[in-house]
Amino acid sequence: MNRTLYGNLIFELSKKGRKGYSLPQDYDRAHTTAELPEALRRKEAARLPECDELTVVRHYTNLSHNNFGVNDGFYPLGSCTMKYNPIINEEIAGMKAFAGLHPLQPAVTCQGALEVYYNLQQSLAELAGLKEFTLNPCAGAHGELTGLMVIRAYHESRKDTGRTKVLIPDSAHGTNPASAAVCGLEVVEVKSLADGTVDVEHLRQLLNEMGGEVAGMMMTNPNTLGIFEPQVLEITAMVHEAGGLMYYDGANLNALLGECRPGDMGFDVMHINLHKTFSTPHGGGGPGSGPVGVREGLEQFLPTPRVNKIVVNCDGENEPYEWEGYVIDREADSALGSVGSFFGNFAVMLKAYVYILSLGSENIKQVGPLATLNANYIKECLKGDYLLPIGGLCKHEVVFDGLVDKSSGVTTMDVAKRLLDYGYHAPTIYFPLLFHESLMIEPTENESKETIDAFIDVMHKIAGEAKTDPELVKTAPHNTPIGRVDDVLAAKQPVTTYWKSIAES
Ligand SMILES: *Cc1c(COP(=O)(O)O)cnc(C)c1O
Repeated sequence: MNRTLYGNLIFELSKKGRKGYSLPQDYDRAHTTAELPEALRRKEAARLPECDELTVVRHYTNLSHNNFGVNDGFYPLGSCTMKYNPIINEEIAGMKAFAGLHPLQPAVTCQGALEVYYNLQQSLAELAGLKEFTLNPCAGAHGELTGLMVIRAYHESRKDTGRTKVLIPDSAHGTNPASAAVCGLEVVEVKSLADGTVDVEHLRQLLNEMGGEVAGMMMTNPNTLGIFEPQVLEITAMVHEAGGLMYYDGANLNALLGECRPGDMGFDVMHINLHKTFSTPHGGGGPGSGPVGVREGLEQFLPTPRVNKIVVNCDGENEPYEWEGYVIDREADSALGSVGSFFGNFAVMLKAYVYILSLGSENIKQVGPLATLNANYIKECLKGDYLLPIGGLCKHEVVFDGLVDKSSGVTTMDVAKRLLDYGYHAPTIYFPLLFHESLMIEPTENESKETIDAFIDVMHKIAGEAKTDPELVKTAPHNTPIGRVDDVLAAKQPVTTYWKSIAES
């Protein structure tokens, strides 16, 4: 670690006796500790850093500069849809009227928040072409688990109990098989063709062999290579024919937004990653929201609580009137019960709702097409230098298989590290697993042509460096506070304690 660049730890800046606060002169120390029983009091003072205020402010401001987010620069992390989160989202999500609510508050005291919640359920249903949504799950993976539980509950309700298998294409995101396993279902892998799409003949063979045991199939469309599955209608029909349900992993919904709907493709259950498709900064573990939608006939299997709209006929003084309001159904006759604490991540829902409303029904139709245009532009500009294993049109993201010219030994990892030197967040690397040197770029619809052109220039430049000065790329990054870390050691033997890391530095 380069300490001169990175700054010191706050403990290293400490000077004994230095203070960043002043207390009133009549402050009585004895008084403040008098009520604490002796046994609970410290024997010696806590080892806290002692710094003046300016040092503290500079320290944390400098640390914050070591962060990288969409607000700092281009962040083309494939499969993650790292999309700009407009300021208005934060302003509204931070309003006291929303942020100060308590989840156990009676419904009559928070009708506005319930209206937002209800309207978002409805908007998502419309965008997805499904009947009803629950907003309770807190992430995409949580939504997958919830959706699979819905599928299981559906089969159980029909006393069709032998369906314990879930079909998942080998190109799927790792959360798909993980969620199926957590749900107690057995994963059966469906092969992909050389072009990355589902091998329909293999699927047919699997359904012939084990049709009666198949609970359903999970699919991402466009798939994790950014390719739209051309046989999707045939696939959903085949699985339905065998008695299974179709699950749509909505992480790539950004590509389709405004163009087509999972419900119309024959999917029965899906999740949407609100924190991907509908803004909200994410990464580092949260915050997320993974609403789950179902087609008509599966509503009763969704978890609680739910928010419903009611209209009550009232007797007015002169004439009767209608009162419209929202009620919380905390314990509906649900097969699942609750899948999390209270209602889910309400602040993320607010941001998604604001995002949808500020685009409006007309502009939201531009999201998928623009994201797709940006990805294809990058693909066409870079395919001379970076190996494009699957040609043709992609959707919102493009996957390369490392450099075309591999003679220098420069890997995808090296390219990703060198991008950091130029001020870019690296794309997703070594995923999907279908290729050895996967480099997956997702620009989103928000980026200007100038931003994308500048990124393309840098990618060309790095490809040039790989030829003329491969060592420069192989030892990158050179301009970041921390150089290349040992990934394996960082995962196997992480040093997480302060004193130890100081001792070793
Ligand atoms: C991100 C992602 C998920 C998981 O979503 P989380 O919100 O991170 O839990 C699932 N599938 C695909 C294809 C994804 O990109």
